[in-house]
Amino acid sequence: MLGMLTEAGFPIAARPDDAECVIVNTCAFIDRARQESIDTILELAKLKQSGRCRALIVTGCLTQRYGADIMTEMPEVDGILGTSDLPRIVDLVRQAANRHDWATSAPPGYLYDATTPRLLTTKAPYAYVKIAEGCDMGCTFCAIPQFRGTHRSRPLGDIVREVEALAKRGVQEAVLVSQDTLAYGRDLPGNGDVGDLLLALGDTRMPWIRPMYLHPAHVNDRLVEKWTRARIVPYVDMPIQHADDGILKSMRRAVTARRMKDIVAQLRAAIPNVTVRTTVLVGFPGETAAAFERLLEFVDDVRFDRLGVFTYSPEEGTPSPDYAGQVPAEVAAERAGVVQERQDAIAWERNRKLIGDVQDVLVDGPSEDPAFAWEGRTVGQAPEIDGVVYLRDAGPVKRFTPGRFARVRIVEVEGYEFVGERG
Ligand code: SF4
Repeated sequence: MLGMLTEAGFPIAARPDDAECVIVNTCAFIDRARQESIDTILELAKLKQSGRCRALIVTGCLTQRYGADIMTEMPEVDGILGTSDLPRIVDLVRQAANRHDWATSAPPGYLYDATTPRLLTTKAPYAYVKIAEGCDMGCTFCAIPQFRGTHRSRPLGDIVREVEALAKRGVQEAVLVSQDTLAYGRDLPGNGDVGDLLLALGDTRMPWIRPMYLHPAHVNDRLVEKWTRARIVPYVDMPIQHADDGILKSMRRAVTARRMKDIVAQLRAAIPNVTVRTTVLVGFPGETAAAFERLLEFVDDVRFDRLGVFTYSPEEGTPSPDYAGQVPAEVAAERAGVVQERQDAIAWERNRKLIGDVQDVLVDGPSEDPAFAWEGRTVGQAPEIDGVVYLRDAGPVKRFTPGRFARVRIVEVEGYEFVGERG
């Protein structure tokens, strides 16, 4: 959207306070995300009273799902757009003062291509590349397919062109995202395969290529073989969601705990120094104390390097809110805390072993912590979700350059964050 607006001649303001038109791009994945989106809309709406802002536009999943309600209940919103028809943002901004709501009615189906203008808003040296959109998996807790539509992949050559163009602009890391990354290509003529995409991307000049969100049900030997040959970072992000077979079945995850354990072992054996990240969902209906215990045992056994935990949120239009055995929210929150505590102990112990290691670090830019000049990431730290490496310049010679790689010695570890010096 920013690329299209820039091409249409709209300058992009650095801060919301300076903007005449503010666009809030929302998430509607779970209740917490919706609340954050609504809070942000209300917060930014204040700029219409006190600042330069004359129009507030809301886009993304929240409006795709609840567009009509937002137009009726939030008079401060002047225009909305869902997840489709994104090029219409230009007209919407032009006409924002007239409070238009027409742009939300399109069903989800949008997919950009390499020719879509793209504005990188941050100075960070990484960029997200969406390789496919939508999902056909039908997990019983997930509303995403309702507002992102069915799975559809971008052509392989188009993604390669975009990644090559980003590399030419100085981007050092392409983070490949989609709702169901391993389903990439299945819908393309000739029955494509994500392994072929990864192999093809290895021929670009992009230094780091990081695929995210790997559904374990799609992993097979053929994929692992291509994965290990592809020039991608040794990082696997595989959401397991749960490890009790009854719960997995009821979530419709199409995979068992045993199989997931084997997959992690297979990937660890095949990819040297791989970092394995996962996500779990606690408090799903039917999660008894015994089922939860099985999840904890799994986490203890597999010893993931990183783990994110969510509590179940009953989503309208999905089957699971009608299931028996709904878990009280306080129990789910308590369980989330228990999983996180277990995982912290595992991850911190592993991280401490990294002290003294020399690794390549991609310097993202100035540090948010005033005690350090810069911050960057090792290959095992994905942007925004994992920790960072804080960096200090040591004299004029040993300085770091943002957007570049540096050899860094890890000298301190504090939980998920590292401190590094020029190695
Ligand atoms: S695979 Fe992911 S996006 Fe698709 S239905 Fe399941 S949780 Fe939702």
